[in-house]
Amino acid sequence: MQVVVCADGREARRRAVVSLELWDKTLRGLQKVVGPWDFSHWIQPVQCDAVDEREREIVLAVPDESHGRWVEDHFAGFIHEQLRLLTDSSYRIRYTTYAERTRPEPADPNPGVRSDQGRLELEPVAPGLSRDNGRDSGPVDFRPGLHAEPGEERPVLNPRYRFENFVDGPTNQFAMSASRAVADHPGTRYNPLFIFGGVGLGKTHLLHAVGHAVLDRNPRARVRYVTSEVFVNDLISAIRTDKMQGFRSRCRDRCDVLLIDDIQFIAGKDRTQEEFFHLFNTLHGSGKQIVLTCDQLPQSIPDMEDRLKSRLQWGLIADIKPPGFETRVAILKSKAEVEGFDLPDDVAHLVARHVTRNVRELEGALRHLLATSRLLSRPLDIHLVNNALSDIIGERLQKIAPEAIIKAVSVDLKVPIADLKGPRRHRNITVPRQIAMYLVRELTDESLPQIGQLFGGRDHSTVINSLKRVEALRDANPEIRSQLDRIRRTLREGG
Ligand code: ADP
Ligand code: MG
Repeated sequence: MQVVVCADGREARRRAVVSLELWDKTLRGLQKVVGPWDFSHWIQPVQCDAVDEREREIVLAVPDESHGRWVEDHFAGFIHEQLRLLTDSSYRIRYTTYAERTRPEPADPNPGVRSDQGRLELEPVAPGLSRDNGRDSGPVDFRPGLHAEPGEERPVLNPRYRFENFVDGPTNQFAMSASRAVADHPGTRYNPLFIFGGVGLGKTHLLHAVGHAVLDRNPRARVRYVTSEVFVNDLISAIRTDKMQGFRSRCRDRCDVLLIDDIQFIAGKDRTQEEFFHLFNTLHGSGKQIVLTCDQLPQSIPDMEDRLKSRLQWGLIADIKPPGFETRVAILKSKAEVEGFDLPDDVAHLVARHVTRNVRELEGALRHLLATSRLLSRPLDIHLVNNALSDIIGERLQKIAPEAIIKAVSVDLKVPIADLKGPRRHRNITVPRQIAMYLVRELTDESLPQIGQLFGGRDHSTVINSLKRVEALRDANPEIRSQLDRIRRTLREGG
């Protein structure tokens, strides 16, 4: 009997690994055939929920139904093609949403085949390539009824990029408040609003959020969202096909709010800058709102005409910087919640401590963890993170020896090592001992009984109580939090 259970477990794990690998490879293939914007906005959020090799079916989880429809309509052909290339057979694609997807069930012996419950079935679309449709080619109705005149172009706004889903903190608060103000009173203050910052920090998210908020207040508002790459391409094709009049009228006359993403890409393109300069003047002059994002300050954009640089500085310039630790934790928790996971504090802290550069990487790390947890049917805990995180950030988490942690606690909290490991129960010793246990649990792979052994042969229930006590202290007491942070820092720096 035991043997059968083991074999099932192995088979489940094998299937899970097959699913992860197949989807990873599919993503790599897709990255080569769809544009970078489409890839990051539409494909990357798609997760593989399960692969049924026998039935030739792949279950993909999408943020919500409209995202799924968009993927199905525009990229299903590409996905089918990649799967065919990789497996030599045709796969049926089924969709589910993050919210409807069930959480991992530890007892599920067969994650490859899931029940039909909670699954979203989209209208089948014949497999085939639809690349023409894939590139910002036209309107999509994410919210029926909320758009301008019939026949008017509607912006392609990512339904997830709304103010409600934007976690603010000290490094992005200013940009977020300015964006909100602009959305509440378009064209009246802060025109243009110029948002700048490094990659993956939420510029595009805020830009779409402005578009959503304007349309929420006034469904008839004519909002145009374009990446500057698309702007350049549209302009080139208008020039080539002699349709400049239509291009100008689309941009100038039929637009109340113009959102241009990544304006730095028009640098060095003289004709585009010329056209944009006139567009800017017309819109600004008639009180239409302009919001731009960029990876740098206007004055630093190389190969940009001075008159344009100066106009970009007319309104308000708001920067976004990488989020601090607390905001990173809040972002992780909020994103996990959207996907139906309650991210434990220690897990959120561990990820937030190691993935620091930008929010996109933070999301990538979380996505990988959730997928691993789901596919391996393992709880999302410190151990899973320790195993999975190293793949994502491309470096092994520093292995920290338990003895080094005990020593660091001893030095920092001025309690002899012998007391930390010994039997004394004075509060001056028990709290530091509990802190040491907590950090060993957080930073190493030691099991609860092993931790008990390290601390003078205590049993694992004592260890559990200690961990709980430190969690409570940490939540209630800022001094404990800063002690923990200080000791972690010392350990990371090898001091
Ligand atoms: P940028 O345009 O600055 O390169 P994006 O707007 O594309 O960055 O953001 C990258 C990802 O991170 C997106 O999925 C976005 O939703 C998410 N993101 C960025 N900042 C935040 C935030 N403050 N709160 C929630 N999600 C965020
Ligand atoms: Mg962007």
